Amino acid sequence: MSAPITFDNSYSRLSERFHQSQPLQPVQNPALIEINPSLAAALSIDEQWLTSEEALGIFSGNTLPEGATPIATVYAGYQFGHWNPQLGDGRALLLGEILTEENRFDLQLKGSGPTAYSRGGDGRSPLGPVIREYIVSEAMAALGVPTTRALAAVATGEQVYRETAEPGGILTRVASSHIRFGTFQYFSASQDLDSLRQLADYALARHYPEAEDEPSPYLGLLDAVIAEFARLIAQWQNLGFIHGVMNTDNMLICGETVDYGPCAFMDTFKQSTVYSAIDQQGRYAYQNQPSIAHWNLMTLAQALLPLIDSNEEAAIEAAKASLETFPKLFERAFTDLGAAKLGLTPSSRSAQLLTEFLTLLEQQELDYSLSFSGLKDRVIPKVIADDPSEITAWAEHWRQALLAELSVEEAKARLSASNPVIIPRNHHIEFAIQAAYRDHDFEPFKALNAAVTDPYNEALATSVFASAPADSERVQRTFCGT
Ligand code: AMP
Ligand code: MG
Repeated sequence: MSAPITFDNSYSRLSERFHQSQPLQPVQNPALIEINPSLAAALSIDEQWLTSEEALGIFSGNTLPEGATPIATVYAGYQFGHWNPQLGDGRALLLGEILTEENRFDLQLKGSGPTAYSRGGDGRSPLGPVIREYIVSEAMAALGVPTTRALAAVATGEQVYRETAEPGGILTRVASSHIRFGTFQYFSASQDLDSLRQLADYALARHYPEAEDEPSPYLGLLDAVIAEFARLIAQWQNLGFIHGVMNTDNMLICGETVDYGPCAFMDTFKQSTVYSAIDQQGRYAYQNQPSIAHWNLMTLAQALLPLIDSNEEAAIEAAKASLETFPKLFERAFTDLGAAKLGLTPSSRSAQLLTEFLTLLEQQELDYSLSFSGLKDRVIPKVIADDPSEITAWAEHWRQALLAELSVEEAKARLSASNPVIIPRNHHIEFAIQAAYRDHDFEPFKALNAAVTDPYNEALATSVFASAPADSERVQRTFCGT
């Protein structure tokens, strides 16, 4: 059987300054844990082939698919605000790009062994982070959030050594591309203007061809990325998603969410929530995500300045004007999504009701997702046991606004369509990882995966995966998958 993937490797054809070629580093005893038939179908990959020996060879980094040119790419980045002039794919390998009729997608192996950019790391990944990324990235996709995807997960049959020995894993990741804010910053900081321009032209052609026709295409690129991120971060906020490591090497130019290391969906609503164990200062707390995105975009703009205008002052003026649009674009997107979450048409009234509701959720220490998905049961007034009186009063106002617009049935339908009953909760993810580690049992992982990829299915409202954690189950800390 020949590999049913058509590879093209446009990134590897860019100058040698962009990447290093990297031979495969086979693993001992790989086993397939999970595959993603619907993503395969979208990529025109034969579903049957996914479970073949040949596919396992490719997903474990043991076999090089025909036409692939494996490379590790270079980038830089601001990590927790600190500049790091050289990073790169230290535990990932870009096999190449899959061509579909309309698009091209990166196919990357994460956890496939050391590269020129590993900086002393082993280039491998424990299975836990592979399972976490698989579940959360596929949940995000099902929730309609731009994201990298998971095509397959394998166990390598080898151990990786962190605080203890853990089973190793490899994730096959699919992305519109892996070009990061930090990729631009790498060339800008090394004052390699030719490469910077080559990268910008490549990114424009691949992701924002409409900006190529603008008077200043590079300013157009910046504007397009700003618009993507305004919408993206609004979606994160709307879902209670905390990324946890918003370094500029983890911000993709294409606007997809990437790096699911320490991420988590919030259970109890609290603006200052942080899960990541390494985020001691709370830099990437829930409430800071919009302003951090803005700051990250500012550092991207800085890198683009020499392309925007050869006159530095003019370039700064133009970039500043673009950056100033971000808070409004974000606010608008957030308000629109928030209105929909309340079943309302966006207005100052819906914005006010949203703010009030969020304040109450925080005061009353209520579960974020359950509080919103429970609204459809309040369209008709009813007595709810243990309902805080403030919430009952708020619901009265909200109901008036809602039923001024919609019939009861319409309101319920709208609320159901914009409030997931299933989000990938941390305690369920941990349970799935523990079952895999302790008992070599991947069924909880698969079951959770099936649930989170069907997030609006009302029938799942009574499933175990819809439940908030008991106090004893609550996950307080998450860890980068390094
Ligand atoms: P992250 O915090 O996951 O965004 O990773 C930051 C940088 O560290 C990236 O350039 C990674 O490639 C690199 N890195 C993380 N873990 C490893 C590892 N186990 N081996 C080598 N490089 C790694
Ligand atoms: Mg990263």
